[in-house]
Amino acid sequence: MDINSKDNNKSEYSSSEKTIEELLILEEARKLKTVFLDNMSHELRTPITVILGYAGILYEEIQDPELKEMAEIVLKSSNRLTESLNLLLDQSDVDSNRLKVAFEKKDLKLLLTEIYNIYKPIAEDKNLEIFFNTELNQANSNIDVKMFNKVITNLLNNAVKFTEKGRIGLELFSDNSNGTNFYCIKISDTGIGIPEEKRKLIFEAFRQVSEGMNRIYQGTGLGLSVSKKFVELMNGDITVESEVNIGSKFTLKFPSIL
Ligand code: ADP
Repeated sequence: MDINSKDNNKSEYSSSEKTIEELLILEEARKLKTVFLDNMSHELRTPITVILGYAGILYEEIQDPELKEMAEIVLKSSNRLTESLNLLLDQSDVDSNRLKVAFEKKDLKLLLTEIYNIYKPIAEDKNLEIFFNTELNQANSNIDVKMFNKVITNLLNNAVKFTEKGRIGLELFSDNSNGTNFYCIKISDTGIGIPEEKRKLIFEAFRQVSEGMNRIYQGTGLGLSVSKKFVELMNGDITVESEVNIGSKFTLKFPSIL
C-alpha cells in the first residue's frame, strides 16, 4: 500500500514536472515565433515595397496592352502580398499582446465617408451597387484610427469578395437602447452568406468557411480575428447575422461621446 502511494506520488511529481517543461518549451516557441515574424516582416516588407513601387511605374508607363496587363497583374499580386503580410503582423501583435491603443476622439461619419469613397469604385468594378446611409450629422467616439480603418476595410473587403451580385451597404446610426449611447455601423451584403454552425468559428484566426485545398475564395483567414480583437480593444462589439445565399450583416458598436 505504502509502496503504491509512493509510486503514485512519484508519477504525479514527474508528470507535473513535465508540464512545467512543456510550458517552458511552449513559451520559448511563442517568443521564437514573434522574433521570426518580426524579422521576416522586415525581410519581406522591403522587397515588396520596391516591387510595388516599380510595378506601379511600369503600369503607368507601358503602352503595349499585353505588357500593360502583365504589369497590372504584378501590381495586384504585390498589393495582395502586402495585405496578407500586414494581417500576419497584426495577428502576431495580437498573439503577443503587444497592441497599444492610441485613443482619439474622432467623428466616425468622416472616417466612414473616406473609406466608402475608396470602396465605391472597387464595388462598382464588380458590378455591385453600394450605398452609405446615415442621418447623423456627427458621430464622435474614442477610437484608434488605424485600428478602426483596418476593421472597416476588412469588413468591406469581405463584403465585396463574397458577393457576386446585388449590393453592399454601409450604415451608421445611434442606439440608446440599453441606457448607454452607442454608435452602430452595419456592413451588409447580398452574398453567399455564412452557415449558422460556422458563424462563431470565423472569428478565430486562420478559420474560413471553405477550408483546405478545395477552398474557392482567396484570403488568409485572419481579417475577422484581427478585427474582433481591435474592436474589443476599442471597447466596442462585433456581431454577425447571416443567411446562406441571401447575405450577411456585420454590426459594430462603439460607445458614443459628445
Ligand atoms: P478571409 O476573408 O481572409 O478568408 P476573414 O477572417 O476575413 O478571412 O473571414 C473568415 C471567413 O469568414 C471567410 O473565409 C469566409 O468564409 C467568412 N466570411 C467573412 N465575411 C463574409 C461575408 N461577408 N460573406 C460570407 N462569408 C464571409
